[in-house]
Amino acid sequence: MISYTSTRGGSPELSFADVLLTGLAPDGGLYVPAEWPTSTSVDSSLPYAAFAAEVMWPFVDGSIERKAFEQICADAYGTFSADDVIPVTTLADGIELVELFHGPTLAFKDVAMQLLGRLFDHELGKRGTRVTIVGATSGDTGSAAIEAFRDRENVDIVILHPHERTSEVQRRQMTTVAAANVSNVAVEGTFDDCQDIVKAMFADVQFRDDVGLAAVNSINWARVMAQVVYYHWAGAKASDRPVSVTVPTGNFGNVFAGRVAKRMGAPIGEFVVASNRNAILTQFFQTGAMTIGGVEPSLSPSMDIQVSSNLERLIFEILGNDGKAVDDLMAKFRSERHVSLPAELIPRMQESWLGESVTDAETIETMQMVHEESGMILDPHTAVGVAAARRRPDSMQRLVMATAHPAKFPDAVEQATGSRPPLPAHLADLYERDEHYTVLPDDLATVQAFVRDART
Ligand SMILES: *Cc1c(COP(=O)(O)O)cnc(C)c1O
Repeated sequence: MISYTSTRGGSPELSFADVLLTGLAPDGGLYVPAEWPTSTSVDSSLPYAAFAAEVMWPFVDGSIERKAFEQICADAYGTFSADDVIPVTTLADGIELVELFHGPTLAFKDVAMQLLGRLFDHELGKRGTRVTIVGATSGDTGSAAIEAFRDRENVDIVILHPHERTSEVQRRQMTTVAAANVSNVAVEGTFDDCQDIVKAMFADVQFRDDVGLAAVNSINWARVMAQVVYYHWAGAKASDRPVSVTVPTGNFGNVFAGRVAKRMGAPIGEFVVASNRNAILTQFFQTGAMTIGGVEPSLSPSMDIQVSSNLERLIFEILGNDGKAVDDLMAKFRSERHVSLPAELIPRMQESWLGESVTDAETIETMQMVHEESGMILDPHTAVGVAAARRRPDSMQRLVMATAHPAKFPDAVEQATGSRPPLPAHLADLYERDEHYTVLPDDLATVQAFVRDART
């Protein structure tokens, strides 16, 4: 049975079930497995859900019964609209797209959230407790979480979004869900204001305990774990050429899952970390140092991030699993807004990590080019990935993680191709559905009172 340790070295080791419900470690670190399983024996001809159960089993063994876990995987991936859940398609230039966006809310976050919703409910049912999940979203995370936790027995969920600052598709995906345990709050403020309210709620110990506050943000180990599966899935279909995997990145959760898969034996040569104009990770992988700047809006809004929380898991590895060294480095990063790795560790990192940044103009050009050459419409996040992958030699097998369905970002698609992509059948009437949300001022006490009342 694998236990989990904090990247800052100052928290006791926990089981999978505890890590699932805890999220962030008490010392401020992120949980990582204390040892790493290998996956060489997984049968690549299995259907996706069964394949997923096989790959993830060593991480959850000891916390859940095998049959229950297999059923949870089957139910989670039964919600995807593609027959093989995560299809891999090839573009005219040979780049392969790993299509992660066939879940209920059309972005790759469904892959992890659909599993997480069911794992939470199962574990809470076993313990006979309930939680209230509160989260802030600028778009994709909120809808994926709501869709995954709607109608769960042991969970209420309240999602805060910045009033009139999300796209209409994104807002409607959250607010048209009519389920008793789901509440949406439009905060009269920015995404940062929403996030500050959530942080303040977690810091209020009395409130946290009263409502059983819980989070499902991207640092949750179970989210990373669910994403490990599709790197093995795509890797199993690889030829014998060296494999280059490009991942459009924000919080570094998706690409770190790839790193875990590689450690477990997936045949991946290098990772290309693709960013938009918010290029702090490009700086990090090209130079070994990074400086926090301001967040600038781009055509790929889910990647408009400066501090990528999951990068700490990679830094832990680079620093030789030294929690104290990670703690010092992160403290320095917070206070000085700049940090650099020890010089002797940088070349080794660069052997398998590349950083590439892509402008909005290149994003649109890539969408146009792929549309012309392959007849396919990319969403702007995936387009950032494809533009970065095109810079790699075509002697490599180039895979790109396709993170969203184009219909989720109709404005960018229209700008590139001249027409708006239709929504898939299950969302075709999204614009006719009734919306449910409450507009509240940017005020902690008001939002806390709302959360107390929202519980079922
Ligand atoms: C969240 C998101 C990303 C970034 O994923 P990370 O795991 O934060 O790196 C990229 N593309 C889309 C469409 C997303 O929703």
